[in-house]
Amino acid sequence: MTETNSNLTRRRFMMVSSAAIATPLLLNAADSMAAAKTAEAKVAVTNAKKGNKVYYIGHGCVGCHVCMAFCPAKAIHFGDTGNEIDQMKCIHCGTCYRECPICVISETEF
Ligand code: SF4
Ligand code: SF4
Repeated sequence: MTETNSNLTRRRFMMVSSAAIATPLLLNAADSMAAAKTAEAKVAVTNAKKGNKVYYIGHGCVGCHVCMAFCPAKAIHFGDTGNEIDQMKCIHCGTCYRECPICVISETEF
């Protein structure tokens, strides 16, 4: 069976109008998911900030960069004397302390 011209035109119209309706809906859904992820990340940082401990890298650091790789606040950098924690950026989560393979990071309560 062959399709008539008017059937074809109607079908094309339906396809175009469906796409016109679906595209903004999909974009809105993507925006909402991105916003939810950002909100989730903010809550995680806020919770982590509640920590009441301060962390310092002690002597003996071998510069393996494991702590840098794990630090969620990007607060650890290579300084003149090895790796250092930027206390202004640190959110006191303790991840570096837990991940350092040779335990040279100290943890002290405020
Ligand atoms: S305590 Fe957390 S935020 Fe602070 S330097 Fe260590 S890993 Fe980074
Ligand atoms: S994980 Fe430990 S040994 Fe490795 S760079 Fe950090 S402080 Fe130094």
